[in-house]
Amino acid sequence: MFRAVFETAKDTIFIKNTSLKYIKINPAMEQLFGKTAEELLGKTDFELFDPATGEKIRKIDQKVLQGGVNEDFSVKAVAGVPHAFHTIKVPLRDAAGKIIGICGIARDITGQKQAEAEHARLASVIDQVSESVVITDLDGNIEYVNPAFVKLTGYSRAEVLGKNPRILKSGEHDKDFYQNLWETIISGKTWQGTFTNRRKDGSTYFEDAIIAPVKDESGKIINYAGIKRDITREKKLEDQLRQAQKMEAIGRLAGGVAHDFNNLLTVINGYSELLLRKLEPAAPFYKEITQISKAGERASHLTDQLLAFSRRQVIQPKVLNLNLVVADSVKMLRRLIGEDIDLAPVLDPDLGNVKIDPVQIEQIILNLAVNARDAMPQGGKLTIETSNFEIDDRYLKEHVEIQKGWYVMLAVSDTGIGMSKEIQNHIFEPFFTTKEHGKGTGLGLSTVYGIVKQNNGYVWVYSEPGEGTTFKIYLPVIKEAVSVSNEPVISLDALRGEETVLLVEDERNVRRLAKRILSENGYSVLEAKDGFQALQVSRKHKGKIHLLLTDVVMPSMSGKELAEKIEILHRGIKVVFFSGYTDNAIVHHRVLEPGTAFIQKPFTPLHLLKKIREVLDRE
Ligand code: ADP
Ligand code: MG
Repeated sequence: MFRAVFETAKDTIFIKNTSLKYIKINPAMEQLFGKTAEELLGKTDFELFDPATGEKIRKIDQKVLQGGVNEDFSVKAVAGVPHAFHTIKVPLRDAAGKIIGICGIARDITGQKQAEAEHARLASVIDQVSESVVITDLDGNIEYVNPAFVKLTGYSRAEVLGKNPRILKSGEHDKDFYQNLWETIISGKTWQGTFTNRRKDGSTYFEDAIIAPVKDESGKIINYAGIKRDITREKKLEDQLRQAQKMEAIGRLAGGVAHDFNNLLTVINGYSELLLRKLEPAAPFYKEITQISKAGERASHLTDQLLAFSRRQVIQPKVLNLNLVVADSVKMLRRLIGEDIDLAPVLDPDLGNVKIDPVQIEQIILNLAVNARDAMPQGGKLTIETSNFEIDDRYLKEHVEIQKGWYVMLAVSDTGIGMSKEIQNHIFEPFFTTKEHGKGTGLGLSTVYGIVKQNNGYVWVYSEPGEGTTFKIYLPVIKEAVSVSNEPVISLDALRGEETVLLVEDERNVRRLAKRILSENGYSVLEAKDGFQALQVSRKHKGKIHLLLTDVVMPSMSGKELAEKIEILHRGIKVVFFSGYTDNAIVHHRVLEPGTAFIQKPFTPLHLLKKIREVLDRE
């Protein structure tokens, strides 16, 4: 029986005598060394192994011969190939108890050691990857999570072991979503998708997940494993980009509509004003025309805001210090916001300069302050801050569409009702309002947005429902010093003139209105509907042409081009442009360089006459 065990054992079994020579070995040992019993018997370990190994074994054997039992793990080269052994040796005694040799059993554990090393390597990879790894049992109870999971979710390993991954549920996905997931993996397939999940602290994050069944050799599912990548940042950037594109599209639409309306309003408002000037207040229809005129004024105020939003407001940027504009506005704001609201400006005395139309800054402050007031019906605190701010690389990583550099920040904060995320997604869209009918137009913030964009700035909102809201506006710092304006003051009597004006405008009604205003005030007017006709007219005209009044955007020849050609024919001619908006073409052709005279549509007779007189009287 013992022999049978001895011969069939897979482990190496051997007996050595007291001089440490092998006197019995089993077939497993022959196999291990690839030698026959005859070749191995009678040899010592010095003949089977290298000298250092032989010496090590001899020392152990000496101890065993003195009565010790030895168990060790060691690596020995067998015929040049390293093998890991687990060896047990005991003294061999005769019937009288005298030690007559050593009995040893050595198990070759090379394969097991390799598996362990491989396992350790895999485990350390899973420990170190940035993807989170979750392994569950068949019921979905978590058996393993890696450190990336702990870092991402905020849960410690102990907190989640044995729990179901549903602790991460954000409520963003419906039942079908999870059902589909489970059906897929239960059927042995891999599920792939994006989760919106919730961290321990309640904040949400996005992750791309692959969840796969883990099968044993027989193909039976024994675990489920999920590998998930945090895509919160990508998602945020994507959302920002989508938002920017949406605003761009709405802007184009709004700008187009506003531009066309402007031409119509110029006619409506212009003729109303002409009529009103002619009529005595007691005259028939005076009241009615006044109503038309008022409605027209309101309408042109609306189109102004739309133009501001679509960045097509005609602007006269100046280098200025925001603190001065804020300080000026504060006086007016105090009246506007009432006594229940505490107004606190916090202005940075070292603030950099910006280049922007001061009217636009006032529009921004006004719109934000009015909103803040509306958000604090019970009163509260309105803070207006300015400071310098550097947008650095770290900031760039988190935001698309932004340029590095120094900015001036204008922040307007309130302690009002705040807004939900859902509302925040829409606030900059024109006509978006949560205020009751008649209270809000939904154009305040879209105006702010447009102005900020037109000036290469950025606007951010931070708001918590019930806590209040902060709007932050960043405008690029400009190196130039603040410019002092000294616009000439014109007396109203001095608006008439006798000069000759060449009027070029493709929109017939607008042209007729302008002509009428000018001729009624003493000017001789030459008309043309486009650049070519204007050149013809100017060639035929014998006398002097003092001023060219031209639209900027016209088919076939731009106002700018026309002006350049006419200036050659009529040296010293003055030029005034008018336009419904400044689109990119105008900016690129630099029509708006300082000193260019501009009239914005819709214009009133007063506007027009003032501007023309001012330009004609210029040296
Ligand atoms: P309006 O004020 O005419 O509604 P806005 O464009 O100025 O239009 O604002 C759009 C919406 O944004 C408001 O209706 C309101 O819901 C929200 N909002 C703007 N500012 C604030 C604020 N400071 N606090 C809370 N909600 C605000
Ligand atoms: Mg508003």
